[in-house]
Amino acid sequence: MEVPVERADTDLSLIAYGDVVAGCTKCALAQSRTQVVFGVGSPSAELMFVGEAPGFHEDKQGIPFVGAAGQLLTKLLAGIGIAREDVYIANVLKCRPPGNRDPLPEEISACEGHLWRQIELIQPALVCTLGNFATKLLSGKPNGITQVHGRPQEVVLGGNAVTLYPIFHPAAALYTPRMLAVLEEDFARIPDLLGVAALPPEPEEPAPAPAEQPIQLGLF
Ligand code: URA
Repeated sequence: MEVPVERADTDLSLIAYGDVVAGCTKCALAQSRTQVVFGVGSPSAELMFVGEAPGFHEDKQGIPFVGAAGQLLTKLLAGIGIAREDVYIANVLKCRPPGNRDPLPEEISACEGHLWRQIELIQPALVCTLGNFATKLLSGKPNGITQVHGRPQEVVLGGNAVTLYPIFHPAAALYTPRMLAVLEEDFARIPDLLGVAALPPEPEEPAPAPAEQPIQLGLF
């Protein structure tokens, strides 16, 4: 398929901008990071996710949401028929805070310009903020995620009208089944908000055939 000229320009601009951000020294996290975690996915995505900050695995691999929370995010997307490659995923902070502590206000101020530029270049129609930090930054309001999750807001981001859709961070649902149910419910509205009919879930990888297990007699 031929890529329209402006779109191809955008793709290149996003790559070029990623190259610039790779050397960022705007805050002290530059000293402790392994590498900058810029973002991943389709530069022409209609749907963008914004998380908090890279964790241990993201810092090592240079890709956002590759740890346990990322695997849940990919699964939730598959559950509404959307492939991870078709969305764009970024974070409020592009560098890992030591020990995965919360982002500091000065780190957010130093880093936010990178996120605004990403949004400006990608021009998504729908931005899902994952958790408190992304929601507060992009809504410009102090209201926390418990209060606003699942409620779309019309905002202007990066010069474009965008639907902002705050949802819980997948990490919050990793060990709490009640939270997972809320997240699934909020995810189920995404196709509607994108203006597409809900697609059938992506087929899951077939489970490997169970190996012959010796029966644990103590269990029966
Ligand atoms: N991994 C990320 O890339 N971002 C988060 O917010 C959490 C895990």
